[in-house]
Amino acid sequence: MEKTVFWIEGDGIGPDVWAAGRPVLDAAVSKAYGDGRKLVWKELLAGEKAFKEVGEYLPQITVDTLATAELAFKGPLGTPVGGGFRSLNVTLRQVLDLYACIRPIRYFKGIESPVKRPDLVDMIIFRENTEDVYAGIEYASGTPEAERLIAFLRDELGAKVDLTAGIGIKPITPAGCKRLVRKALQHAVAHKKPSVTLVHKGNIMKYTEGAFRAFGYEVAATEFADACMTEQEAAAGGTKSIVVKDRIADNMFQVALMRPQDYSVIATTNLNGDYISDALAAQVGGLGLAPGVNMSEKLAFFEPTHGTAPNIAGKDMANPGSLVLSGAMLLEHIGWHEAAACIHAAMDKTISDKKVTVDLADQIPGATTVGCAAFGELLAK
Ligand code: NAD
Repeated sequence: MEKTVFWIEGDGIGPDVWAAGRPVLDAAVSKAYGDGRKLVWKELLAGEKAFKEVGEYLPQITVDTLATAELAFKGPLGTPVGGGFRSLNVTLRQVLDLYACIRPIRYFKGIESPVKRPDLVDMIIFRENTEDVYAGIEYASGTPEAERLIAFLRDELGAKVDLTAGIGIKPITPAGCKRLVRKALQHAVAHKKPSVTLVHKGNIMKYTEGAFRAFGYEVAATEFADACMTEQEAAAGGTKSIVVKDRIADNMFQVALMRPQDYSVIATTNLNGDYISDALAAQVGGLGLAPGVNMSEKLAFFEPTHGTAPNIAGKDMANPGSLVLSGAMLLEHIGWHEAAACIHAAMDKTISDKKVTVDLADQIPGATTVGCAAFGELLAK
């Protein structure tokens, strides 16, 4: 059996982590299934490599191929500095309607963590990926769009508006909120998770963040009524399997650190999710061990959570762990669970042997630092 994976190398540490990480994924498949199964890798160009080879950062052929693909995997893409460029990552998410960014937070024994009981950390974040202030509706002051919006605010609200820097818009739609929360609830049901927490700033932004909360509860009550109950219903003795609750985002940062065991599946809006996924990754070893996937209804597009890390690019210092663990998510996604288990076992073993890249060596007492390539070889072995 073969599965085609379209892959993008990415910028910065992209080449480092792919060179070290891809052999680990192939080794896991080979160990689990012998010659019976194989990942077939087909490269697509994007980012600096695409610009060098074909003169464009995001060639149309790449977008067209991804638009019909089911499985893809990308390294980090930098946003070219200078005017006129939109983030390639944001563009890909919007063009391909990758509405759910899913990031598990899993602890590996032996890593020093800022939380008291990291062994109790087992969370997965579902971040809405296409709306909110990241929708890219932002105008510099002086542009006709900004002036129209400022005039509207002055006329309609009677407000004294001094928007000398710029103006941005935070769109939140019922459909956008509902499909994201639905995906989180589906995950909770399929994986027998005890709770889903809606994270929002609805106390301040009532019609956007507050709407996310309301639509979240609505989906739980109407589409998952057999499985879900509210915290109040649970306190009154309810016996359904999943508690749906909500937390205000700033409080969530606090409680997720103090009582991580109370949180399992987290569903949230785009900006909250961006912050919270990096913050929670720090509980379990940081960005070098933080995997992720962006999903549309059709495409599962895996990617490490980190960026291009220009400070260590090409220096054989990057941790390929985030890419390798994103690969384990890919293998789970296609049902190759035995190969995914091999990867987690390899990660457990290599970390307990204390031979790790520098970002982890700093967090594991008595660890020896190895390079990116050597860490990949140890994992593959
Ligand atoms: P970053 O994630 O690249 O780096 C933040 C810090 O973490 C740096 O100190 C870096 O050295 C370290 N780090 C990151 N990945 C690591 C790894 N695998 N191993 C060891 N250390 C690692 O974030 P940044 O510096 O804010 O962004 C740099 C560029 O990456 C920007 O152009 C940004 O737009 C882009 N970016 C891309 C993505 C993506 O493609 N999904 C995500 C985030 C940032």
